[in-house]
Amino acid sequence: MDKQYDVIIVGAGPTGMTAAIYTGRARLKTLLIERMTPGGQIATTSTVENYPGFTQGIEGPDLSEAMETQTKRFGAEMLSSEVHGVSLDGLDRVVHTDDGDVTARALIVTSGAEHARLGVPGELEYMGKGVSNCAVCDAAFFVDSPVAVVGGGDAALDEGLFLTRYASKVTLIHRRDQLRAGKILQERAFAEPKMEFQWDTVVERINGNGVVSSLSLKNAKTGAPSSLEVEGVFIYIGLTPNSNFLQGLLPMDNAGHILVNAWMETAVPGIFAAGDIRQQAARQVVSAAGDGATAALAVRRYLQELRAKAGE
Ligand code: NAP
Repeated sequence: MDKQYDVIIVGAGPTGMTAAIYTGRARLKTLLIERMTPGGQIATTSTVENYPGFTQGIEGPDLSEAMETQTKRFGAEMLSSEVHGVSLDGLDRVVHTDDGDVTARALIVTSGAEHARLGVPGELEYMGKGVSNCAVCDAAFFVDSPVAVVGGGDAALDEGLFLTRYASKVTLIHRRDQLRAGKILQERAFAEPKMEFQWDTVVERINGNGVVSSLSLKNAKTGAPSSLEVEGVFIYIGLTPNSNFLQGLLPMDNAGHILVNAWMETAVPGIFAAGDIRQQAARQVVSAAGDGATAALAVRRYLQELRAKAGE
């Protein structure tokens, strides 16, 4: 690995990989850093049906793999490492990773978001022992078993429907009596015989004895307690931005989303933020890719201006 690049991109989800395709094609020396496997959320998503060009949809891991291949084709280097901070050294942006410091004139932050936690007893204790945020990874452990999904958004319904291929029953637990998810997913979920719905219900505790065995529930309106026997519980209650490593450097909203303008420029020249990490993202694969392209074009312009100023 070299130490000096034109542009460093932190996070290899659809936003980061698209940005790297664009910067690679612009012949900018590009380093793409990812702490897990490339793909971000789509690497653990079932079928993606709303990314244009795939008339019958495409499996998330397949789309992710194709994006990675395309990214490498245009010359981006990839580094598997965790970023724990960024500092400024004149016009250089220094990225501190587990594998040492790397430097570039421009940085694009595309570190995305991770699944929010319920914060109830048993959630962390039984993570990987019945509690999961990844139906694609774990559904096969629950063949003919009852499972629950918590949440009422697109992710909960998408992944709940995927789980019906394996589980005996999928109970969707939602804190309100109306779903947030898009209509087509709602229609499918209501038509699926294996799906049941517990409305106005919150999870109080995840119980088990080594592995998950039941949930303690409460009616959000009446306060009435109940319990549900399940062997798995899949939690899809929204996303939390992965921006801790930038605290104090870039302005953010209260939730930790980075503030940017329409060109994905942050308040710090030479640092751009795009995709789920930024405020007001549409949080779709297609808009994530669009954000990545916008940021890469802005980086190209920024570097051209720097070179012009330096008389290069
Ligand atoms: P989301 O749209 O923010 O929905 C989160 C759901 O969890 C909401 O129903 C919310 O309830 C519930 N919730 C939040 N906090 C909770 C808590 N503490 N306890 C219980 N329930 C809680 O999140 P998402 O479904 O993960 O989706 C994230 C983004 O990705 C969205 O923009 C979505 O459109 C996109 N996405 C799209 C697709 C697709 O198009 N197929 C698939 C996956 C994700 P309330 O409704 O009461 O707020």
